[in-house]
Amino acid sequence: MSAPEPAGRARATRALCLFAAAAALVLSACGPNQHIVLVGRGDYTPPDVIPGETPPPTPRRAAPPRPEPSEPPRYTRAPAVRVWLSCAPAEPVIHVAGPCRIVPREGAARRVASLGPVRVRPAPGGFKLGNDFYKSSGFVIEPEGPTPIRIENSRYPGTLRVLRSGDAITLINALDVETYLRGVLGSEMPASWALEALKAQAVAARTYVLFFCRERAAFEWDVTSTVEDQMYSGGAVQPSVSEAVRQTSGQALLHRNRLFPAFYHSTCGGSTETPGRALGKPEYDFMGSATCAYCAPSKHYTWSGRLSGADLAARLRKEGIAVVAPVREIAPTQVPSDGERAVRIVYGGGDVTLSMIDFRRIAGRSLVRSGRFECRREGGDFVFTGRGFGHGAGMCQYGAKGMADAGRSYREILAHYYGQTRIEKLY
Ligand SMILES: [Zn+2]
Repeated sequence: MSAPEPAGRARATRALCLFAAAAALVLSACGPNQHIVLVGRGDYTPPDVIPGETPPPTPRRAAPPRPEPSEPPRYTRAPAVRVWLSCAPAEPVIHVAGPCRIVPREGAARRVASLGPVRVRPAPGGFKLGNDFYKSSGFVIEPEGPTPIRIENSRYPGTLRVLRSGDAITLINALDVETYLRGVLGSEMPASWALEALKAQAVAARTYVLFFCRERAAFEWDVTSTVEDQMYSGGAVQPSVSEAVRQTSGQALLHRNRLFPAFYHSTCGGSTETPGRALGKPEYDFMGSATCAYCAPSKHYTWSGRLSGADLAARLRKEGIAVVAPVREIAPTQVPSDGERAVRIVYGGGDVTLSMIDFRRIAGRSLVRSGRFECRREGGDFVFTGRGFGHGAGMCQYGAKGMADAGRSYREILAHYYGQTRIEKLY
């Protein structure tokens, strides 16, 4: 098995991520929105978000205990999910090779025998689809048959909502959860892995998306298509992936009759961590930390990386953190109040403490592959040596592979990595 390369794990941005398909078969650390934990004497400006459309981060501190619902959530069928295709190009080329409807937010719908290939661009008061102007703040493309919507080189089942966010275009693919999961599994785990590992991944990914479909119901989208949530690259699906989704159809994990974000990551390096320690989300600590004797074959089990202090300072300044002099020290630490992993950076003009999640995003997730590392200074460089790949909470994907290869079932795998939970068929 050729282990996935880590390069695709860098935070996907419009500039860097040409398209999700390019990062296919990259195991990702599915995780929450980032946050800065603490700020020393540096100043911090949050990264750009879509105004009015970006959900607030989930609470960082444990909320008061809520009464346990008497019943688990129920669905009559697989619900719809809205996926923000967050690494689509700024002016995407869209193609539907069959009849479809174009439904603007304002004005009458229009039926066409086929659409494009056509480049979509923002224009004053609306959009241009090739040479045609649509005076509208947004529109939906609805194929009338099974023809998928092609965006650049990827095919997407379901419908596509095209929105304006200032001068930028936002693409949102709406489809049912089961179809979506086939696109997730094809991106999150090699299709050649054992079926029980793929099934464990399917249940974890379904739990994650069902949770956020509820959590973000008031927003324009439920999940992004990148490692910020779950990798999703449309409809090219291997048979083993379809089989894993089909055999677990409707099954999700519940804790006290509630869905939760079932975090997962590539390689834990020997033991997983609680969400509180890894992500600053102690409200999900019921899943616990698990010793993992199965991921040692992963090439990410141990790792090293080198980063120059000048490079790190530049990256921090790009984030709005005013580092004005050479970096002198990078020290893993923790938030005193709750033990969340953090990093203290000492520089000439002061110091700043970042959450580990933010530090890895800024330094580069493919360079600082996990939060379990030591760091030493060599001249102007910093040398990291660590273990594991990803945030470390929830299921270890290479561990799931190892357990499946050793004959364990997907139920045993999920029980190992998600403590105090049970599998329930919700539809
Ligand atoms: Zn592991």
